Amino acid sequence: TISMAIFDKSGHIAVGTSTNGASFKIPGRVGDGPIAGSSAYADDEIGACGATGDGDIMMRFLPCYQVVESMRLGMEPRLAAKDAISRIARKYPNFVGAIFAVDKNGTHAGACHGWVFQYSVKSPSMVDVEVITVTGDFVTR
Ligand code: ASP
Repeated sequence: TISMAIFDKSGHIAVGTSTNGASFKIPGRVGDGPIAGSSAYADDEIGACGATGDGDIMMRFLPCYQVVESMRLGMEPRLAAKDAISRIARKYPNFVGAIFAVDKNGTHAGACHGWVFQYSVKSPSMVDVEVITVTGDFVTR
């Protein structure tokens, strides 16, 4: 799965998520990818979130909507990401998943459960893509 947030020059934010369609798949389901707020969510005024992992569990929590709404209430991206993952882990301790959160200023963070998660960042001021590894509960930049 690839989940992505894009900021354009005028501050608009777009998100999108693909799905591998195989791992975690219950026969006949469409997955979390097409469900707004589950695998991705964005609000130009706040920021964005993308997710990967056990979509059949994660879609029950709309974690990306949760992250953006937590940031709207003033939570930093790293706490919003950790909180959204924690909400799922409390109910499903064995789920595997991860999210990234980025606010409208470009502050970003990742949180994961049950695996090591990597996400990458590139802005016009950066020479190259930076790959960030989330090994514990969360990291932030
Ligand atoms: N979230 C995807 C799905 O459940 C799988 C993945 O992220 O690898 O379809």
